[in-house]
Amino acid sequence: MKRKKFIQLSTTLMATPLLSSFRAWAQPERLKNWAGNLTYSTDHVFYPKSVQEVQQLVKKHSKLKALGTRHCFNTIADSKDSLVSTKELNKVVSLDKKAHTVTVEGGIKYGELAPYLHQQGFALHNLASLPHISVAGSCTTATHGSGIKNGNLSSSVTALEIVIADGSIINLSKAADGEKFNAAVVGLGALGIITKVTLNVEPTYMMRQRVFTGMPITQVKQHFEKIVAAGYSVSLFTDWQTDSINEVWIKSRIGTDKDEDTPEFYGAKAATKNLHPIIAISAENCTEQMGVPGPWYERLPHFKMGFTPSSGKELQSEYFVPLHHAVEAIGAIARLGKQIGPHLFITEIRTIAADNLWMSPCHNQTSVTIHFTWKQETEAVLKLLPLIEKELSPFNARPHWGKVFTMAPKVLESRYEKLNDFKKIIAEYDPHGKFRNEFLSREIYNV
Ligand SMILES: Cc1cc2nc3c(=O)[nH]c(=O)nc-3n(C[C@H](O)[C@H](O)[C@H](O)COP(=O)(O)OP(=O)(O)OC[C@H]3O[C@@H](n4cnc5c(N)ncnc54)[C@H](O)[C@@H]3O)c2cc1C
Repeated sequence: MKRKKFIQLSTTLMATPLLSSFRAWAQPERLKNWAGNLTYSTDHVFYPKSVQEVQQLVKKHSKLKALGTRHCFNTIADSKDSLVSTKELNKVVSLDKKAHTVTVEGGIKYGELAPYLHQQGFALHNLASLPHISVAGSCTTATHGSGIKNGNLSSSVTALEIVIADGSIINLSKAADGEKFNAAVVGLGALGIITKVTLNVEPTYMMRQRVFTGMPITQVKQHFEKIVAAGYSVSLFTDWQTDSINEVWIKSRIGTDKDEDTPEFYGAKAATKNLHPIIAISAENCTEQMGVPGPWYERLPHFKMGFTPSSGKELQSEYFVPLHHAVEAIGAIARLGKQIGPHLFITEIRTIAADNLWMSPCHNQTSVTIHFTWKQETEAVLKLLPLIEKELSPFNARPHWGKVFTMAPKVLESRYEKLNDFKKIIAEYDPHGKFRNEFLSREIYNV
């Protein structure tokens, strides 16, 4: 199978028999992913409104795939057969104030859940750079924010309800199912359709974020761990074109984090206005900065709900490296700066705490992530990624499951010690590969 498969635009329009009432009737065009670099390979898209409807669909079809908010950049969510969108499965099911958990339907977006939780006096421990993404789609791909002590978004999952291949429902919980639960949370959409997710919540909190510009790279080399620990969530943005980090975003929790309005931070200067991570773009779409207090869900993401996140027409790649290799790994990528520069919008460097979820890139390792927001220049990016992966290979880099990578499946296998055990769990819930698509065949089964 060619590595360029992820951009394949299928031209075979399949016959469209009238199916069921929860089928989308009029679909003039096939669905694309958010970035528009991928057209999904089927126009059979279903929009069930209940778990029972999901069960009926799963029983009826021999092949299908869950689809969340379509924010992945590769073919992980693609199907040649049928897609089951979770768009209509977007409700809060229950909030257990005593147990500090909230149960939601899998398709709810973080941006829909967060204001509700805040109103009720609760919060999540972290969010990704954007709130537009579905809870189940994010957790099953190990989506993360930043913070040296913060696990990724999947690490707050305490229970899952999944419709598995025979159409039955299984419930897995952290409390009752131990390692099987750890296998299922970052499930890459392979175990079935997640209809409910239970997440840990905590009392709500307020935050503020400050941005600094122009941090000399020498400071990063000497003080990396202090810099990334200087706030609850810290991000470094660079285009690799100078000896400085362009912007440092520090998000602090009011009342718990040490947080002073200093004019300088490790040689970087406090910004005098709100900034976009790509400095040339207006900050209108970005969350409030300049130390203005606000609720957690309006400060943890970089981008506001209701506005376009990032740049729009783009590709993304991201690699996870053990934290103790951070400085070496950043140095290795800096050496490719001239080659990377023409094709890059921006790089973001973040940290994520270790977890025990089998297929999480942070499994057993606190990590630094080096992320690339690319111009949508697919050919050039596919030429650069092997170079980047080679530079990061001494550090056993693991790629983000939802972004573009070219690492060989054999390499992936060597970097996920639980991958073979994960396949056994898949075989238990999906013995005939109903939820297996080309991405899973290639990356997980190496066929
Ligand atoms: C602008 C932008 C910014 C981003 N920022 C970040 C970031 O800060 N951090 C980060 O880690 N990632 C980030 N991402 C990547 C993104 O968060 C992940 O790719 C995430 O998977 C998106 O969730 P989704 O619902 O859109 O997934 P989709 O692309 O719809 O699906 C992804 C996978 O999840 C499966 N899936 C979806 N719903 C279900 C379900 N109910 N049951 C079972 N399987 C399911 C699909 O089958 C597929 O395998 C960003 C992406 C974009 C476009």
